[in-house]
Amino acid sequence: MTFPPDTHLHTPLCNHAVGEPIEYARCARSKGLTEMCFTDHVPAPDGYDAESRMRLEQFPEYRDMVEEASREKGIFAGFGIEADYYPGCQSFLDPWLDRQGFDVVLGSVHVIGDWGFDNPIYMKRWRESDLVAVWSRYFQLLADLADTRLYDVVGHLDLPKKFGYRIPDPVLKELAQPALDKIADANMAIELNTAGLRKPSREIYPSRLLLELAHDRDIPVAFGSDAHTPDEVGADFDQAVALARAVGYTRAARYRQRHRTLLPL
Ligand code: ZN
Ligand code: FE
Ligand code: FE
Ligand code: ZN
Repeated sequence: MTFPPDTHLHTPLCNHAVGEPIEYARCARSKGLTEMCFTDHVPAPDGYDAESRMRLEQFPEYRDMVEEASREKGIFAGFGIEADYYPGCQSFLDPWLDRQGFDVVLGSVHVIGDWGFDNPIYMKRWRESDLVAVWSRYFQLLADLADTRLYDVVGHLDLPKKFGYRIPDPVLKELAQPALDKIADANMAIELNTAGLRKPSREIYPSRLLLELAHDRDIPVAFGSDAHTPDEVGADFDQAVALARAVGYTRAARYRQRHRTLLPL
């Protein structure tokens, strides 16, 4: 089987990943991938979530690491970024993203208000939270993300399920649909992210239900492992491809210079 590009990969510059990009590239090639794209966590000069990202001064180092990996034969290694959406992020991102020559910009929501809801350190807060209210605020943030027109692909669409704090499918559907409509309006893709299988959720992001709702809207899918170690590159892509096909997808999104093409799946 040929695998779709892995468009979600981290580097040690984010302080919670290990392995040099060149090792990720070698691992990808050994697993039979032909294309990948680095998308480390974007710098945030305003101090947002400073512990889990490179500083702006380290950005040239990121560019150099990816360029070195891109010289590895037998694998195409692109240069992208995982950029958080939060209110106020545009003042830095809007002028900055366009000037970096990225292949892809993933848009992710990791924080609701002052709460890094996917960070194990702050997991306790889930137990004290109204789950429907949290998921509702999350999908509102995704809708706002789409409205900025700053990003190409929505990362891990149902990230709030990471630790298993789920809501019933009918409620999920009702909350997610307006965000999916906005994502479709923005001509964005969503990501099939296999990291959810490695978390307590034990499920790819997004769930089959949400993927079906995306497919109904002709929203393309990109594939990502969200690897934070070299051996995680392309992890469980067989399962992700099977899920995409089961829902009716026949093509996978590939981004170069922020231009999308669709490859047969
Ligand atoms: Zn990370
Ligand atoms: Fe993320
Ligand atoms: Fe990531
Ligand atoms: Zn991620």
